[in-house]
Amino acid sequence: MALRCPIVSVLGHVDHGKTSLLDKIRKTRVAAREAGGITQHIGASEIPIDVIKKVCGNLLQMLKADLTIPGLLVIDTPGHEAFTSLRKRGGALADIAILVVDINEGFKPQTIEAVNILRQYKTPFVVAANKIDLIPGWNSKEGPFVLNFNEQNQHPNALTEFEIRLYENIIKPLNEMGFNADLFTRVEDITKTVCIIPVSAKTGEGIPDLLMMIAGLAQKFLEQNLKLDVEGYAKGTVLEVKEEKGLGKTIDAIIYDGIARRGDYVVVGGPNGIVVSKIKALLKPKPLDEMRDPRDKFKPVNEVVAAAGVKIAAPNLENVIAGSPLRIVPEDKIEEAKEEIMKEIEEATIETDEEGILIKADTLGSLEALANELRKIGVKIKKAEVGEVSKKDVIEVASFKQVNPLYGVIIAFNTKILPDAKKEIEKYDIKVFEGNIIYKLVEDYEEWLKAELEKMK
Ligand code: GDP
Repeated sequence: MALRCPIVSVLGHVDHGKTSLLDKIRKTRVAAREAGGITQHIGASEIPIDVIKKVCGNLLQMLKADLTIPGLLVIDTPGHEAFTSLRKRGGALADIAILVVDINEGFKPQTIEAVNILRQYKTPFVVAANKIDLIPGWNSKEGPFVLNFNEQNQHPNALTEFEIRLYENIIKPLNEMGFNADLFTRVEDITKTVCIIPVSAKTGEGIPDLLMMIAGLAQKFLEQNLKLDVEGYAKGTVLEVKEEKGLGKTIDAIIYDGIARRGDYVVVGGPNGIVVSKIKALLKPKPLDEMRDPRDKFKPVNEVVAAAGVKIAAPNLENVIAGSPLRIVPEDKIEEAKEEIMKEIEEATIETDEEGILIKADTLGSLEALANELRKIGVKIKKAEVGEVSKKDVIEVASFKQVNPLYGVIIAFNTKILPDAKKEIEKYDIKVFEGNIIYKLVEDYEEWLKAELEKMK
């Protein structure tokens, strides 16, 4: 049975190197030109298995099984928001994640938040222990690191400072969160053991090892999830809705199963119901050498096989939002697809309390992640919705506030406050927390709550 590419997401604390790592991964082909390059998708990059084998030949011997996956599909957008928005039925869209941790700084609030999110979605992950080039006395000739671990999980030739940072900043906090850390050849249960791969997104050191490790783990432990339904229609998730010159509103989507065909219908969930639209074009990015003019960025294709990122041009996409489930089906399968999507949306609905505050977010996934973090500290949520903060929302919160002054609160993650809502916020004296980092929102809210409770004494 054909296997699809595992979908890989990158998470971690701000400034620990997620963007740099993704850039470096995209440049892997430079090191393996003969093996063919990286295929650029919409919203993702595909690293073919031949490239991975080429750039880390000797690591391949460590794998007992043959690599039969076609490659890795790495999502280009880093961060928790991207990870949580990109969901599919029953969990995260990503099959496996890279948790980037600056080895010199160690676990930070967003690192812990990321681990909690990964755990909640039951997504296996590896740690890219980044910025090894900044370790005093680091000598890259000691590598490749992963081949030199001994039974005690120590690098025999490693510099002490490196060992200390690896242990104190990464292994110890992982253990404290209930994970073992080990070499991937010794991993028996991918949900309990985390592989650590020292890397430098600056020098590129360790990146081939990281890619090989992920490919190996996916092959060894996730094969069941990677069976491609070659007969089935395409299932995917909306990454972004974008206006494109000459095309109007388009959907960028990641397809995780099946095959999408030109001329089929796109069926997608939205905040105001399901949108069905006949596809005008399936588009992929044009390679640079085929691009005559920078506006001429996309190439129409007849079909797209999972796992892949694709742009969909179709009429009436105005109401579609990021993170929504999507299907691409022939006309006679529209009803079936609609039912599936309804189920997915219902499953994702967040349970609310009799009384409490209002939370809003840009996507269902991020709304769920925010709700989960707030629940952990006992916050009551009366209403949870995807979308911008409207005047109607504020008036509603004013009524929550009448029940209890502490419920006059809106927490808005990665979404806008509409101008007419701002006036109402002032009028009813509603407390609003806005931002795009969940832990920061939760922290600010907690601080405010403490001060309010103090005032009430
Ligand atoms: P992000 O916020 O996690 O996406 O982090 P960035 O990729 O933007 O990196 C934050 C800063 O760290 C930037 O100034 C990078 O140049 C730097 N940086 C990232 N990776 C490395 C690394 O491996 N070594 C060194 N020395 N600097 C790095």
